Amino acid sequence: MKYKFCPICGRKLIMRNSWDEGDVPYCPVDDIMYFDLPKPCVVVAVVKENEILLMKQSYIFKNCKVLVSGYVTNGETVEETVIREVKEETGITINNIKYLGSDTIPKSELLMLTYMADYVEGEIIKSDEVELVEWINIEHAIEEMKEDKVGKRVVRKVLKEIGYNYIYSEV
Ligand SMILES: [Zn+2]
Repeated sequence: MKYKFCPICGRKLIMRNSWDEGDVPYCPVDDIMYFDLPKPCVVVAVVKENEILLMKQSYIFKNCKVLVSGYVTNGETVEETVIREVKEETGITINNIKYLGSDTIPKSELLMLTYMADYVEGEIIKSDEVELVEWINIEHAIEEMKEDKVGKRVVRKVLKEIGYNYIYSEV
C-alpha cells in the first residue's frame, strides 16, 4: 500500500530518501518509513495419491475451484501458515511441505508463496468460509480451475513433480 498518512499518528507523511528505495513516505514524529510492501500469502496443493484438494469459495472466483490459501500472520513462519490454513479450511493434516516458487498479483498487493504437501490424516471438515472442499483426480483438477491462473500454474508444477509432465505439458 502507498501510504499518504501515518497509521499511528494520522499526520500527513513527507517523502524521505531511503538510499536503495528512493523516496519513501515518512513520518518524522514516529520516525517510521512506510515502504510499499506486498502481503505475503500461501497457496497450497495438498496431494493424496492421485487426488488433489480443491475448494469452492465464490467470493474469490464464481465458477472455479481453488487451492487452499491464506495470509501469513505476524509472528508465524510461512511453513506454519501452510499447516494452519490447510487444517483450518479443510480439517486435513499434512506433511512434506515443498516450496514451488512464488507468484505476484500487484493489483491485490499479494505475494503468493506456493507449496505442495502430502496428505497425512483427517476427514474433510470444511470451515464456514468455504462452500465446498473435495478431493479431485489430479488429472482433472486444471479443468475445474478455469479462472484461477495462479492455482493452475501450481497444479502444473505439482503434476511435473509427481511425473505427469508428458500428458500435461500442453494444458
Ligand atoms: Zn506518525
